[in-house]
Amino acid sequence: MLKIAILQGDDIGLEVVPEAVKVMKAAAAKTGLEIEWIPLPLGKNAHESHGHTMPQVTVDTLKNVDGWLQGPIGHNAYPRDDPTWINPPLRKRFELFASVKPVRSYPNLPSVHKDVDIVFLREVTEGMQSSSVVFAGTGEFRPNDDISIGMRVVTRRGANRVAREAFEIARTRKRKKVTAVHKEPVFRLVCGMFAEECRKVALDFPDCTLEEVLVDGFAMKLVMKPQQYDVVVTTNQFGDILTDEGAGIVGGLGLAPGLCVGETQAMAQATHGSAPDIAGQGIANPYAMIMSGQMLFEWLGRKRSDAKATDAAQRIARSMDRVIAEGKVLTGDLGGKASTSQMGDAVAAGV
Ligand code: NAD
Repeated sequence: MLKIAILQGDDIGLEVVPEAVKVMKAAAAKTGLEIEWIPLPLGKNAHESHGHTMPQVTVDTLKNVDGWLQGPIGHNAYPRDDPTWINPPLRKRFELFASVKPVRSYPNLPSVHKDVDIVFLREVTEGMQSSSVVFAGTGEFRPNDDISIGMRVVTRRGANRVAREAFEIARTRKRKKVTAVHKEPVFRLVCGMFAEECRKVALDFPDCTLEEVLVDGFAMKLVMKPQQYDVVVTTNQFGDILTDEGAGIVGGLGLAPGLCVGETQAMAQATHGSAPDIAGQGIANPYAMIMSGQMLFEWLGRKRSDAKATDAAQRIARSMDRVIAEGKVLTGDLGGKASTSQMGDAVAAGV
C-alpha cells in the first residue's frame, strides 16, 4: 500500500489540490492501486490551527510517506524575516534534488509553438540559490557596502543524480535524447563538473543520446525551435529561468505541472503560485495540479516497478488529453466556462 500525504497550501491550493486527489483516487480505483491518503496541515491554515506554517507533525509524518501533493504557498503575504517560508527548506530537508517540469503544447490551445514535448530537469539542492548551498547562514554576503558576493556550488553527487534521473526519464520516451545545458567553456570548474557527470552517466544509457548546448544559445534555440528538444537537464539557476521560458512557449502557468524528486520520495507541486487574486471563486485551472499528481504516480510506477501506479498515471494522462481535445469542460484561462471542480470531475470521469 502506498502512503501519499495531502498538503493543500494556501489560496487556490484549497481548490486545485482536492481536484488532483479526486482524479488520482478515481484512477487508483480503476487499477486496484491501494493508497493510504494522509491529510497534513501546511501554510496559513496550519499557522492558525498549529501555531506554525510547517508544523512538526507535518515534517515528522512526511518522513514516512512515499510522496505527497503540495499546493502553492502564498509566501508573499507572510511576514518578512519570519521563519515561515516553506518550499526551499522542505526541498532541502527531504533532499528533493530535481524539479521535473514537462512543457507540452496542445493543438487546440493557444501557444507560441505547437508540437512541443519537453521534460526539463532542474537541479534544486545546489547551484546559485543561496538558500540551497549552505548548511547554516546564507550563500551571499556583503563585506562592505560596495561589494556583494554570491556562491555557486556543484557537487559530483548532485550533478550525477540529476543526470541519472534525466536519462531514466529519456529511456521511457520515444526520442531518448538528453540535452545537458551548461556553460562549461566559461565556468570551467562548476559547469565543467556538471558536464563531466552528464557524460559519465550517459555511458550507462547506450540506448539514449546526449547532446550539450551552452545556456545562452539554448535560451535562443528554445524560443525559435523548441521541437528539437526531448529531455533537458541543467543546474539550479539556469533551470529556474529556462523552465519559465518553457512554460511561456506553450501557454503559461495554468499548464505547468511539476514533480520534485528525491532518492526515495517525490512531491507533486504545480509551478503556479497561490493566485490570491482568483482564490475562492472556483475558477482556478486544476490542470497543473492534476498533472503533477499524475507525474507522482508515473514516478512511483517507475521507481517501484509498480504496474498499477504506471497504469493509473497513463489513465489520467489519456483522460486529460481527451478533456483538452474535446474543449467542452475547460476553465476560463483555457478559453472555457467550466469551474475548477467541473473540470476535475470531467477528468476523473474519463480515467
Ligand atoms: P501566481 O502564479 O499565483 O499568479 C500569477 C497569475 O496567474 C495570476 O493572475 C493568477 O490568477 C494566475 N494563475 C495562477 N495559477 C492559476 C491557475 N491554476 N488557474 C488560473 N489562473 C492562475 O503568482 P503570483 O501572483 O506572483 O504569486 C502569488 C503567491 O503565490 C505569492 O504569495 C507567491 O509567493 C506565491 N508563489 C508560490 C509558489 C509555490 O508555492 N510553489 C510559486 C510561485 C508563487
